[in-house]
Amino acid sequence: PVKQFMSATSRMSVPTEQPDTAPPPVTKKSPEDFIFKEIIGEGSFSTVYLAKELKTGRQVAIKVCEKRHILRERKKDYVLREKEVMNLLNTKRKDSVPFFVKLYSTFHDAEKLYFEMSYAARGDVLQYIRRVETLDEECSKFYAGELLQAIEHMHSLGIVHRDLKPENILLSETMHILISDFGSCKLMDHVVPPSPSSSSSSLSDSGSSNPPGRRASFVGTAQYVSPEVLSDDLRRGRIVGPPADLWAFGCILYQFVSGLPPFRGPNDYIIFKKVLALEYQFPEGFLPNAQDLVQQLLKLEPTERLGASQAGDTYTSIKNHPFFNGVDFDTLYCQTPPKIL
Ligand code: ATP
Repeated sequence: PVKQFMSATSRMSVPTEQPDTAPPPVTKKSPEDFIFKEIIGEGSFSTVYLAKELKTGRQVAIKVCEKRHILRERKKDYVLREKEVMNLLNTKRKDSVPFFVKLYSTFHDAEKLYFEMSYAARGDVLQYIRRVETLDEECSKFYAGELLQAIEHMHSLGIVHRDLKPENILLSETMHILISDFGSCKLMDHVVPPSPSSSSSSLSDSGSSNPPGRRASFVGTAQYVSPEVLSDDLRRGRIVGPPADLWAFGCILYQFVSGLPPFRGPNDYIIFKKVLALEYQFPEGFLPNAQDLVQQLLKLEPTERLGASQAGDTYTSIKNHPFFNGVDFDTLYCQTPPKIL
């Protein structure tokens, strides 16, 4: 079953006979091409190492997954999707944004799969929020701005992330965001803006392996999951699409400004109940413009979220919101980020 992963990667293997005009053969990398250093993170079925590529001296992050473990945990689809989405995001386009962890190569040996990625040297945004408790207005605008650019780019490619949260927003050496963790992503055939009358649009649910009419298993993280994922909407044929990321964006913006996500509780069940009842409050002193934007994003009905009708296009209605006054979205990637204090 791991063959699929291999065949996807072995297209680069050296053909036996080559015409003179063939490009130089590309040899697969192997673990021997790197010096593995310390462990920088652990996932439920992977370990991420800091490593140095011997040939170039470049520092990279290498995610190592045990094939046996992936098969046992039925994570094959998750791993394949992560690779597919990262390849999509790596494809050079005029309007590309550099806010994603890059996949440089994949390779495998008898027991393990390896993902060679760009190294997010500054950890994740959650660590910073915990350290400083709340982001100030300038930082909130800057990082929410980069996140919105990243979401806009994914949606324009038909990718719904479905697990956006501060832990999955990593930071580069220069403190720009690098979105990671693409295993829960859903790929859509067509990017069709949802409309209230035809919410069962032609978006395909290729991210879910559930048969039609069967409720999909829960994808995402309780604090950031949108109500449509939790409700019975899937049974009625409505499909979870880009507005689910806009909901998560609203939750993350709330957390930037106040330090905690809006929906909290001692367990997932209680959090889900609060999400479905839209039960959350703004603490005193919450930035008024941010409050208005969060309120426009955290709408139970996906089509009513600000920007939902623009999914797949540019999120101008969100960018033009007064909260983002003064933000030049197109140059964020080359600006010096404000210090998180
Ligand atoms: P799970 O797979 O259970 O959802 P996860 O997504 O956190 O967990 P990984 O993608 O394997 O699992 O990442 C594990 C940890 O490694 C992350 O929490 C992150 O802190 C770190 N990490 C992942 N990719 C990179 C990277 N490119 N650069 C730096 N650190 C990384």
